[in-house]
Amino acid sequence: MTTTERAALDRLKAEVCALHAELLRWGLVAWTSGNVSARVPGSELMVIKPSGVSYEELTPDLMIVCDLDGKVLEGELSPSSDTAAHAYVYRHRADVGGVVHTHSPYATAWAAAGEPIPCAITAMGDEFGDDIPIGPFALIGDDSIGQGIVGTLDGHRSPAVLMRGHGVFTIGASAKAAVKAAVMCEDVARTVHLARQLGQVQRLQQQHIDQLYDRYQNVYGQAAPTAGPEGARA
Ligand SMILES: [Zn+2]
Repeated sequence: MTTTERAALDRLKAEVCALHAELLRWGLVAWTSGNVSARVPGSELMVIKPSGVSYEELTPDLMIVCDLDGKVLEGELSPSSDTAAHAYVYRHRADVGGVVHTHSPYATAWAAAGEPIPCAITAMGDEFGDDIPIGPFALIGDDSIGQGIVGTLDGHRSPAVLMRGHGVFTIGASAKAAVKAAVMCEDVARTVHLARQLGQVQRLQQQHIDQLYDRYQNVYGQAAPTAGPEGARA
């Protein structure tokens, strides 16, 4: 590894570590139940949280570097128990640079009910471009969670999937984008749930969803380099 590659990997470990604080800040996790990973650009490696370490105790040095088969190359601790699912996504989706998993309560309630979140508000049209879909029920231990994520999100605009009876997985071009999708997923899951307490919820018309998605993904935000889905909402 060159000095430049070393420095870039250390920066990525610090970034992935810091993004875990965002899961706490936005109320997406209880105890140690969520995790963030990032692909190491230009390599077959990823950075992921160690298993069972509280978010307050996480430091960049504790982050795990492993290959896309989950073999640990750097780090003293065991990687997150969800490492196989993250790795499967990176192996099968070259466009994905970050993956997030949470059991955030409102979104996971939809997952427990086995029901997609209907695209009923403009913020959903913007970020998800569709309903947030339900993925299959799958147990941890082999590739079935990864297969369920990739199988559900391939060809789908949504960067979030609600794995039935489990929780949320999100993908993004970067780990930060995947964290943003997880935050937005919980936000719209709560809003649409609250709307249903008031009565029937209508999905937006498809043409409006298409317009919202196109504008937000292609026009919205500041001019490059932070434009698009990763740009700050103002
Ligand atoms: Zn889980």
